[in-house]
Amino acid sequence: ILQAQAIHKSFGSHHVLKGVTLSVNPGEVVTLIGSSGSGKSTFLRCMNLLEMPEEGELHVAGHDFRFGKKGARAPKDPALAALRSDIGMVFQHFNLFPHKTVLQNIIEGPVQVKGESVATARAHAMELLGKVGLAEKADQFPSRLSGGQKQRVAIARALAMRPAVMLFDEPTSALDPELVGEVLNVIRDLAADGMTMVLVTHEMAFAEQVSDRIGYMRDGVMAELGPAHEVMHAPRDPKLAAFLERFH
Ligand code: ATP
Ligand code: MG
Repeated sequence: ILQAQAIHKSFGSHHVLKGVTLSVNPGEVVTLIGSSGSGKSTFLRCMNLLEMPEEGELHVAGHDFRFGKKGARAPKDPALAALRSDIGMVFQHFNLFPHKTVLQNIIEGPVQVKGESVATARAHAMELLGKVGLAEKADQFPSRLSGGQKQRVAIARALAMRPAVMLFDEPTSALDPELVGEVLNVIRDLAADGMTMVLVTHEMAFAEQVSDRIGYMRDGVMAELGPAHEVMHAPRDPKLAAFLERFH
């Protein structure tokens, strides 16, 4: 359902992604781990083309993009919008609209981008708020919510677009420790529901529990990729072994 093939991305002379490949099956959960600066966020952002790769191919839920090849053209805005409406993303910082209520935040995309009726979008939003345990917060403004609640609203907002794939970039790393669990539980429920997801997280125990596979990125390459348990407990790459030691 998601295939990123030999993705290259540079910022100026800094070659950040050096041919990264990842294929994710429907319903699969893949977590990316690795040191700061290894390119995890850049790779995730290439998956919904918030960053444009210079080379490589991207195939997501029937949207196909080729970069760098002869005759390849820069994707046009409608193609980008179509891609992004099928691929939800949740960041470290929630970026909710502060002047809109929780419910208004969630229905904005479905109504404005997908042309859903307000009634349909509202009903779906309430269902999603129930799922993330915040039905009673529908009419609150984001400033009245805790960090964990805001992040759960951000997840509901992404789900409201009915995406085929969800991307999470360190969704709990800006939260107070006591709020991390409630957000991880929502992600765990999504995995159990069969949502296809690519996560970046430093929560190693969670990553092992929730992921089918784990990829270890180092210096812009996918240095290791395999079943979660194997990557965590029988790493082949010595640098991965050293990286994991730091979490013990
Ligand atoms: P972290 O664990 O700290 O989030 P990461 O693995 O997500 O790290 P990236 O954010 O992908 O790493 O960054 C990889 C490299 O690319 C870093 O050296 C970073 O400075 C650089 N980089 C990322 N985004 C940009 C940008 N917009 N402009 C210039 N350099 C960038
Ligand atoms: Mg990052």
